[in-house]
This record gives sequence, structure tokens and C-alpha cells, in this order.
Amino acid sequence: MPTLFSHPAVPLAVAIGLGNKIVSKRLLFAGIVFSIAPDTDVIAFQFGIPYASEFGHRGLSHSILCAWVIALASAGFYRHLNSTFIKVFCFIFLSAVSHGILDAFTTGGLGVALLWPWSTERYFAPLQMIRVSPIGIANFMSPRGVVVLWSEVRWVWLPCLSLAMTALMIRQTKKRPD
Ligand SMILES: [Zn+2]
Repeated sequence: MPTLFSHPAVPLAVAIGLGNKIVSKRLLFAGIVFSIAPDTDVIAFQFGIPYASEFGHRGLSHSILCAWVIALASAGFYRHLNSTFIKVFCFIFLSAVSHGILDAFTTGGLGVALLWPWSTERYFAPLQMIRVSPIGIANFMSPRGVVVLWSEVRWVWLPCLSLAMTALMIRQTKKRPD
């Protein structure tokens, strides 16, 4: 996985790009939570579930179907999120599905069960350039952790921020009268 700090880059970038009329603060918060949530599956290790199992790390919780179900369930709370059903569905789906997709660009671990339950195959992207994050805080607090963070700045934060700023500037330009 990229670190827990970097998965929220996607919902944050979309929220900055689209503005708070489309992505309310509560919706953004929910998006950040669901961009990280798939990695709660590391708890599977505590129960002796192997990494390669469909119930293991990067298994069903990282699938497109799981993101879809989370988005649909979240959309039921659209009023609490100060938004509309369709906005919540789209934003939460994007936030949750982006997790598995970013993981597929990492350089280690097993691939991602994106197509579970139709396939248990673990997928990687054609190119893997995000250095995989070590699992556990102790492993992260090491020179390897710095290398991982720098890789995420270059490959996750920089592209996300660039897109967000471009969309923000386009929005600002449209607001101004000619
Ligand atoms: Zn993950």
C-alpha cells in the first residue's frame, strides 16, 4: 500500500478541484475515511488469514465491488452529508476504488483483488512506481519509510495536486466576468 497518509490525496484533490458546492466538508471527510478504510483488512493477519486469501490483505476489501457497495450504502446518508444521493455515490465510489488502484501501482506485496468475487486474481498495474509501504509503524520509522514517503510525494501527491490546482483555476476563471 501507499501509506495511510497518501490515500486521502485522491478525495482531497477531487474536493479542491470541484469545490465545496459539489463536495461538502462532511462528504470530503467521509471520502477520506473510505479512501483509507480498505487497509483495515490488515487485521486479517491477526487471525492467521494468509495474505493471498481473498479475505486477506488486498483481497475483497480492495475490490471494485466493495467500493461500489460502500458508495451505495453511504449514498443512503446523503442528507447527513449535506449532499445529494448521486454526488455521495460518485465521490465515495471514487475515493474507495482509488485505494485499490493506487495499491496496484506499488512495487511490492501481492497484487490487488480488484475483480473479486468474479476473479480471485491479484492485479498489478502495467507500471509499478510507488514504493510499497512497510506494514507496521516500527518498520515505517526507518530510512525505508523516508524513501516510501518521497516516492508518494512524487507519484501520488504531485499529480493529484497538479490536477486539483488546474481544476481550481479553471473554476475561478469561469466565475470571473469577461
Ligand atoms: Zn491497501
